[in-house]
Parts: sequence; structure tokens; C-alpha cells
Amino acid sequence: MTEPITGGCQCGAVRYRAETELTNPHLCHCRMCQKAAGNYFMPLAGAPRERIVVTRGEPGWFHSSDIVRRGFCRDCGTPLFFDPLDSDHLLIVLGSLDDPSRYRPVSEDSVESRVPFVAEWVDTRQKTTENDFTAEEMERIRLSNHQHPDHDTESWEVRAVPLSPLVGEMSRRDRGGSS
Ligand SMILES: [Zn+2]
Repeated sequence: MTEPITGGCQCGAVRYRAETELTNPHLCHCRMCQKAAGNYFMPLAGAPRERIVVTRGEPGWFHSSDIVRRGFCRDCGTPLFFDPLDSDHLLIVLGSLDDPSRYRPVSEDSVESRVPFVAEWVDTRQKTTENDFTAEEMERIRLSNHQHPDHDTESWEVRAVPLSPLVGEMSRRDRGGSS
């Protein structure tokens, strides 16, 4: 069975294709993923970034911190990608797949911020943020956190979303050919 792994946003302005099976499907319960998804958790799985091809349109990007940017459709707002910039992997938001049932999550991540009425999934690994990030990475996220706090603010400077070329092009240029 070799159904193509395709997906895209709700309005159809952005479409993508993965040229290899995605790995490590998981649910992320971190506060940033909750906000970015507008949901209680974000379902994600990854592939080497050069194997994920944007086939229509161009996602917008929001740098939720200096080490992660999130790709979404500028027209309809669908969350599409989670991009850890130092990694050779790009993650896809699994609800945006044409077949969202293709990958069953194997772990739940950042469970320390799981909302209390969401039950633990059966047969999944339970991990905290500290299981997945080094202390140094946690500090880089904390120092460059661009997410609005969870309360009203008098004023707030929104971090601009830089225009980006297609995912593959972006990664090659950002890395200066180092990977
Ligand atoms: Zn759209």
C-alpha cells in the first residue's frame, strides 16, 4: 500500500507532499502547541526536511521562539508545520494530512502542561518537556519566547512573520549548506 502522503490547509491555498513515511507521530501538550493549534494539543510527525515538498502556495511562518518556527496558511489559518530550525527534520501537523488516521501517536510530549480533563492515551509513552529538550534548548526557548502571555496586556509588540521561500529552499539557505 503506497498511498501518497499528501495534505494541506483548509482552503486549499497551501498543499504539501511527503516523499517518505513520517516518523515519531506524537501529541504535544506544550503551551506553545496548544496556542498554535487553538486546541488542547498538537499532533505531529516528522520527516527529513528535504523529503517534504510544498506543492502549492507558500506557508506563512511564525517564530514562536528563536529555535522553532511554525508554518500555517495565511489565508485560512490552518497550522501545517512545526520547524525546529536546528534539526534536519520538519514536522507536519497531522490533522492537515489528507488521511489524518494514517499515523497513530506513539507518545505524548510535554505532559506537564496537558489540560487536566484530557485523559492519557492508552499505550503511549508519557514524556515531559525535559525529556525532549536539553537545558540549553529550554533556556533558548525561554529567552526568545514570542508567545503572548496568558493574560491581557496593555501593549504588545507582535513579532513580524518573515516572508519565506519554499521549505526546502529555506532550509538550505538558512543552513549555509551545512546539512
Ligand atoms: Zn488555506
